[in-house]
Amino acid sequence: MLEVVNPATEEVLRRLEPASEEEANRAVARANEAFPKWSAVAPDERARMLRRLAAALDDEQEGLALLESRNTGKPISDARAEMGMVAETFHYYAAAPERLLGDTIPVPGGVTMTFREPLGVVGLIVPWNFPLTIASWKMAPALAAGNTLVLKPAEITPLTALEFERIALEAGIPEGVINVVVGPGSTVGQTLAEHPDVAKIAFTGSTGVGKGIMSAAAGTIKRVTLELGGKSANVVFADADLEAAAASAPFAVFENAGQDCCARSRILVERGVYDEFLSYLKESVEALRVGDPMSEDTQIGPLISAEHREKVASFVPEGAPVAAQGSAPGGKGFWFAPTVLSPVSISDRAAREEIFGPVAVVIPFEGEEEALRLANDTIYGLSGSIWTRDGARAMRMARGIDSGVLSINSNTSVRVSTPFGGFKQSGVGRELGPHALEQYSEPKSVYFKTEED
Ligand code: NAD
Repeated sequence: MLEVVNPATEEVLRRLEPASEEEANRAVARANEAFPKWSAVAPDERARMLRRLAAALDDEQEGLALLESRNTGKPISDARAEMGMVAETFHYYAAAPERLLGDTIPVPGGVTMTFREPLGVVGLIVPWNFPLTIASWKMAPALAAGNTLVLKPAEITPLTALEFERIALEAGIPEGVINVVVGPGSTVGQTLAEHPDVAKIAFTGSTGVGKGIMSAAAGTIKRVTLELGGKSANVVFADADLEAAAASAPFAVFENAGQDCCARSRILVERGVYDEFLSYLKESVEALRVGDPMSEDTQIGPLISAEHREKVASFVPEGAPVAAQGSAPGGKGFWFAPTVLSPVSISDRAAREEIFGPVAVVIPFEGEEEALRLANDTIYGLSGSIWTRDGARAMRMARGIDSGVLSINSNTSVRVSTPFGGFKQSGVGRELGPHALEQYSEPKSVYFKTEED
């Protein structure tokens, strides 16, 4: 039996029978059966259906936010913002069915037209850190492009996905188009990755599991989109607005208790302002409000599980160079105090591995060249920030850092309308923006012969 737990209280929220491989197969069969009809829905009608779903998500936002907050431990204010993004993602892609345009290309003897065809059944496998948000980034473009889907949420955070399935049915999305299967990755996830009737896997999760999915998908040449781990740099130059950079740095790594693939967990600071920056940072970290996720004031909740807390704690052993530390409640819940480690070397484990918890390292650098070398000294390349008042340098750094998403004098990573995804071992493909539609459809060229040979 699967026990779904509230990480802030350790209370069991729900007990579920985990799905078996046969249930995964049945879900694929339902999606396969629904595909011809769904893909044939006229674009204006499919757009109307998605608009109705988006409106239903607007209406259900508060209930979904409460559920997401209880199941993940994230602060209610964060959960509200995330559920707002879920609805916004559906509003954005509701406009897409009528905008999936092709080209008309004059060629010798006639004309070639291109169409964007849906792929078929897509398998969506998502993690526990932003459960419904990440699922929506995949579901909305997949449905808009005419695919049907099987969604496998992380087995420890399935509640909003199950609610979503109900909301979608009630909003008029036909049966079989969206199928949620709650079960372990090693069985249900693996079945989807290998299934001959699944045309594509869109996966978000760890780089290790992503590698396994890529090889499982090879058996049937599935399309894959992989959104994987990160170890992003937050680069602060001496000429930056230091106070602003230091006030924002804790949220860039500790938000969602650091369980964020975009966490800027390597803070690189120009040596001349290292001490000054660290003292500002200490102040901001100590002021963080860690506690009850249901309180409107809370900024940081607990980690997802006791097991995960153990993994995070292994990065802060006895004698670790703790330069700043926030607070954490005692008692029930998987709490961990936000911690800044410095000095550390770029070769230390805490500076190389994705911690996925509220632990940041601060490393000094000397000049632009070293900043760029350190920023790129990682197997990952998901996001990052550059803080400086020198616009030309900001652009040189932004072009030089091997990452999919960068921000200048800000820590923003994700917007519905802009592409999101990683370089290097942070992934393959892009989500969000118009780019996602390309990843859920195939171009088809049709040559129309108009001239006699
Ligand atoms: P995970 O890789 O352990 O699990 C992700 C999903 O894959 C879960 O649903 C899990 O059940 C499933 N899974 C596990 N083994 C599988 C298998 N053999 N076959 C198919 N599916 C399998 O990741 P997690 O611990 O849930 O999430 C944390 C990781 O996700 C971090 O590395 C984080 O960086 C990454 N992440 C990346 C992004 C991004 O957009 N790049 C966003 C959020 C999280």
